[in-house]
Amino acid sequence: MPFTLVEHPLVAHLLTQLRDRTTVPRDFRLAAKRLTYPLVLEATRGLPLRDQPLDTPLEPTTGRSISAEIVAIPVLRAGLGLLEAVTDLYPDVSVGYAGLARDETTAVPQRYYLKLPPLDGRFALVLEPMLATGGSLSATLTQVKLAGARDIAAICVVAAPQGLALIERDHGDVPIYGAALDRELDANFYIRPGLGDMGDRLFGTVPA
Ligand code: URA
Repeated sequence: MPFTLVEHPLVAHLLTQLRDRTTVPRDFRLAAKRLTYPLVLEATRGLPLRDQPLDTPLEPTTGRSISAEIVAIPVLRAGLGLLEAVTDLYPDVSVGYAGLARDETTAVPQRYYLKLPPLDGRFALVLEPMLATGGSLSATLTQVKLAGARDIAAICVVAAPQGLALIERDHGDVPIYGAALDRELDANFYIRPGLGDMGDRLFGTVPA
């Protein structure tokens, strides 16, 4: 399964802000959104185009427009922090939601919500910022495939080797785009060095 590490000075700069424990939620949200733009551009590099005849002010010509329908699927809740970058770049996107919470002791994902539009013939972009054990992303990809998607990519800001290995085993056909491949998971299933709990840091649900 191809993991594409998106390398760019701005990506490194914004990832550093996300990793920094002193970054407050207001700045964290903005950095997460800005970091997502290049990841989305890379993940959608292969979108199909169709010819579009048009008239410039000077003469007729042929441009190109995107012919794919895109569905963004944030994995709740941290995936919400990436969604606005997708809707900025692709305003016609449809949005499905996958609600999975991990059991803090076993790290097994429990599904509590799933609302997907029809995915047959559409490009599904799953937003799972922290690929830790890979359980939530794997379960989401299974549902996305059951809903008819064949053309799928995932955006994971930070990935752990264990999570990548699970996705390779379960969904080796799904490319993943990320800003970092970190060292390991710790005993509490947090990515090290990581950036802490992405949802808490986005939404300010723990004291800074
Ligand atoms: N989810 C997070 O938000 N952070 C981690 O390090 C792992 C899972």
